[in-house]
Amino acid sequence: MVKITGFTSRDVRFPTSLDKTGSDAMNAAGDYSSAYCILYTDSPHAGHGMTFTIGRGNEIVCAAINTLVPLIVGRDLDSLTADWGKTWRYLVSDSQLRWIGPEKGVIHLALGAVVNAIWDLWAKTLDKPVWRVVADMTPEEVVRCIDFRYITDALMPEEAIALLREAETGKKERIEEAERSRAVPAYTTSAGWIGYGEEKMKKLLEESVRKGYRHFKLKVGGSLEDDKRRLRIAREAIGYDQGNALMVDANQIWSVPEAIAHMKELAEFKPWFIEEPTSPDDVLGHAAIREALKNTPHGTIGVATGEMCQNRVMFKQFLQAGALSVLQPDACRVGGVNECLAILLLARKFGVPIVPHSGGVGLPEYTQHLSTIDYVVVSGKKSLLEYVDHLHEHFEHPAAVREGYYVTPMEPGYSVQMKADSMDRFSFPGEEGKSWWRSQEAKSILDGPRVV
Ligand SMILES: [Mg+2]
Repeated sequence: MVKITGFTSRDVRFPTSLDKTGSDAMNAAGDYSSAYCILYTDSPHAGHGMTFTIGRGNEIVCAAINTLVPLIVGRDLDSLTADWGKTWRYLVSDSQLRWIGPEKGVIHLALGAVVNAIWDLWAKTLDKPVWRVVADMTPEEVVRCIDFRYITDALMPEEAIALLREAETGKKERIEEAERSRAVPAYTTSAGWIGYGEEKMKKLLEESVRKGYRHFKLKVGGSLEDDKRRLRIAREAIGYDQGNALMVDANQIWSVPEAIAHMKELAEFKPWFIEEPTSPDDVLGHAAIREALKNTPHGTIGVATGEMCQNRVMFKQFLQAGALSVLQPDACRVGGVNECLAILLLARKFGVPIVPHSGGVGLPEYTQHLSTIDYVVVSGKKSLLEYVDHLHEHFEHPAAVREGYYVTPMEPGYSVQMKADSMDRFSFPGEEGKSWWRSQEAKSILDGPRVV
């Protein structure tokens, strides 16, 4: 028996705006941050979960974590995990907190951190990585993790069980592949941040080609002229006919007609997909863009979105409307592992590949588990997973890529346990003499312009 006895939240921010890491058309200067939740127990284990933000406002997510966790303090872990779907429903059912969602926005970002902390704790007590906990479940047990409210018009529990049963063929072999770190091919965005100069971009792209990457993503959404120049440089580095794929990401900068017009101009560079062409809430807008970019004179450009898609209900609608070629769930913007399982199953039913969002601190650590679950348990098909090579040194068990594949995590838990020293050093506003945010260097961010 393991009982949750207390918790703490931490506001941890890394000053990535200093070198423009993470910059894109909408987010010129983000400080990769983590609203962090630690669950303490009466055992040697603690559960670690986090949600990703890009700086200011991280304290609001921490405050939301502080309002949610009291729902589970004093509870036995077994009582939470025995019927996980019911627990998840319980965690979104405090009606006063639900009012500030429901199941979206800050309260849902906080839920992601809390739910994932429970999964981390549970996996540690079972001495398994989270992906393996799910891989060892029966189809019925997987389905019991999901709250099907609002999605039964698209997917019934019985149907989900049937899909998982189908995927049991070859599952043993896929687990072995995962154990050999051959389950999750990686792609890189590290070269493509919009604030990086041409020389830096070129150097990083060539380096990525040498490391064995075959898929590359670039930020777009600047002037058409700039985008064309950057994509030309990228294609020169990765080639047109060597099997290397190029993807582009506009981070919601355009209206629907602008997205269509701009992307038709970029079609000559043969992007596989345009990610976040417009508002993340615009289901029918994405469907219109997808339709308009089918069969351009240079081929079809797919449409991808999901990193700011707030819950399984929205994903359901995107799929029902045929608005997506690629679905990109975020591990903590939605309500943690449980809601991600619902989304993976919906994607499987509609035959859309998932390529989880990983551009952020801690996200590759999480999503390596989700992509492994998708391959081993749900779709049986290899997809791709974004890898950004930033800030991994702050984690106890950092995500890594070898020979173009994610190294499958084998340590117990959900892989986002941050080093205690890193948490102290980058705590915000932090302690004098301990936190970087109290240093002279931090002033350029703290006193700098807020809208750039
Ligand atoms: Mg993106």
